[in-house]
Amino acid sequence: MSDVVVVSTISDMRGLVKERMPAVVGFVPTMGALHAGHVSLIENARRDCDLVIVSIFVNPLQFGPEEDLGSYPRQPAADVEIAMGAGADKVFAPSRDELIGDEPLTSVNIAELDERLCGRSRPGHFAGVASILAKFFNIIAPDRAYFGEKDWQQFQIVRRMAHDLNYDIEIIPVSTVRDEDGLAISSRNRYLSAGERRAAVVLPRALEAARVKVEDGETRAGAIVELVKEMIATEPAVRLEYFSVCRPENLTDVDRITGDVLLAAAVNVGAARLIDNVVIRA
Ligand code: AMP
Repeated sequence: MSDVVVVSTISDMRGLVKERMPAVVGFVPTMGALHAGHVSLIENARRDCDLVIVSIFVNPLQFGPEEDLGSYPRQPAADVEIAMGAGADKVFAPSRDELIGDEPLTSVNIAELDERLCGRSRPGHFAGVASILAKFFNIIAPDRAYFGEKDWQQFQIVRRMAHDLNYDIEIIPVSTVRDEDGLAISSRNRYLSAGERRAAVVLPRALEAARVKVEDGETRAGAIVELVKEMIATEPAVRLEYFSVCRPENLTDVDRITGDVLLAAAVNVGAARLIDNVVIRA
């Protein structure tokens, strides 16, 4: 295998993966601006796989017209160092032209799952995610691909896509990495001012309070919704977009809490839209 760390063309990537067959190939897709959450995904892949490939690609197809594609943080040199430090063998960083080219006519849509939770305010977002991941899966043909539980809906959608389209890829969830105060680490946290960053911690606190209440035996989803709404409302800088108590697999709301449930929320704080997800196992 060549010593070149960063691969930028599809043909080089295909060649590299073929060269290493039948090694177990692990894949960690990212949009760069790497942080401890990404590092955890890469470390998990390193433990399980012979060849670890990290993609860095700010996917234009998953941003809405009003969203932050232009201002999304980009730090390619630092990202390569972080990825290699965490155990990656190669970084795949194709340009937009290389990966997407002219306006594609084909897209991958996952019905129903993409309409719930974040799908309500981000139409087309998950189709954009799935369409780019399908390309990466076809180019890299990994055995295992790693996704953060922070983006639980994305993980479920990718898992369903892999199942429906017969990708022979194990889709592996990795626990959310949090800052000391509980806020899930996200590339978008850097949009927060110091005051907004302090206020944002109400999100994990509210989810944690909800989790404790469920584990103490509360079975009325409505009571959990009220609790979370009230807690978020104590921080005027934080606007709740949605909170849902739902089934972890199909993301449908529940009234009565029985079995496993997902607590899913999105908030807006200043210029940042932050999400968090907590799964409670029965
Ligand atoms: P992104 O670069 O934000 O598209 O994220 C790339 C991958 O990293 C996705 O699978 C995310 O779910 C995952 N990820 C992002 N933040 C975290 C975190 N705090 N903990 C664990 N995984 C994360």
